Amino acid sequence: MSVFEAAEYDGHERLLFVNQPDAGLRAIIAIHNTNLGPALGGCRIWPYASEAEAIRDVLRLSKGMTYKAAMAKVKLGGGKSVIIADAPTQKTPELLHAMGRWIDTLGGRYITGEDIGTNPFDMAEIKTQTECVTCLREEDGGYGDPAPLTALGVFQSISAGAERALGSADLGGLHVAVQGVGNVGFNLCRLLFDAGAKLTVADVVTSNAQRAVDEFGADMVAPEAVYDVDAEVFAPCAGGAVLNDDTVPRLKARVIAGAANNQLDEDRHGLELARRGIVYLPDYVANGGGLISCEAEWYRLEKAEVIDKVRAIRQTCLQILDRADQRGIPAHQASDGLAEERFLGA
Ligand code: NAD
Repeated sequence: MSVFEAAEYDGHERLLFVNQPDAGLRAIIAIHNTNLGPALGGCRIWPYASEAEAIRDVLRLSKGMTYKAAMAKVKLGGGKSVIIADAPTQKTPELLHAMGRWIDTLGGRYITGEDIGTNPFDMAEIKTQTECVTCLREEDGGYGDPAPLTALGVFQSISAGAERALGSADLGGLHVAVQGVGNVGFNLCRLLFDAGAKLTVADVVTSNAQRAVDEFGADMVAPEAVYDVDAEVFAPCAGGAVLNDDTVPRLKARVIAGAANNQLDEDRHGLELARRGIVYLPDYVANGGGLISCEAEWYRLEKAEVIDKVRAIRQTCLQILDRADQRGIPAHQASDGLAEERFLGA
């Protein structure tokens, strides 16, 4: 595949191919756009079947980070890195150190973080070689678990969606179906419970869902039944592509907002949601609290400022919905357009 001809290459500033056999390192670092600040994006370790697949993935993900950063109003651009390896068997301290040294050669234009195949302990290894790293544990100088801030951002998105679709931002008495009661889902359930919402939860790990039943009086349904729940709001907080040909016709929700990445199976499913009058808050906007947490770590921001930034996701959601209404386009396209205005106009 020719990189420059790849649709995903669109607008990238820089692509660095790394080959260091003595450390077992084959990696690609992509910097999409730094107009708003240094490019931040996680380091994914994945056994890609081909180099072309790795290139496609890193380009797609780094571009996505630019849009996410622009909508979260952080002073960051978009980037990403991938290491072609099998994390459970091939991730070694030497590999991570080598990656850290390559990141350091970029002189602060790319900042890494955790992603699939990496964790905060790996970030501490990388930090022995470069300062350009986030997602560290508090003990290692980091900002701690981003999940509570991510959940707060999702909560704000639900509130904005409810205001538009249901006529009130007050979530008291609303019925919300939460898919996935993990780190973010559980924190979200707590916020919704405190706001007086009624909860139905589903998780492939029954004990995770049971925690919400025990703590917040939630009803539990089987994972596949979550799409049929008669709730006003659906909050996907598990995996991607959950809004697809099978699920969209089943949903009864008027509002969809959740933490999961890449919720739309294809672009046309966003169109279909709009056609059905369902207010969908784009995933990368709703889950922007995680990135705001990274920004806080990088720039050493005060807690109060960080909370304000996450609360502002609500205003951003309303702006997206206004634009979608005015232009007669689905929310995810309105959001992309706003993001482009922000980072291209910077
Ligand atoms: P997590 O792994 O802690 O929780 C995910 C939960 O979903 C688990 O309890 C898992 O058992 C459950 N699950 C998996 N497949 C399911 C299915 N088919 N049906 C129902 N439940 C299922 O992850 P998390 O940190 O809570 O993140 C949730 C999602 O949000 C992920 O897609 C993640 O990429 C995204 N996200 C997280 C953050 C963050 O701050 N943690 C930030 C941005 C985006």
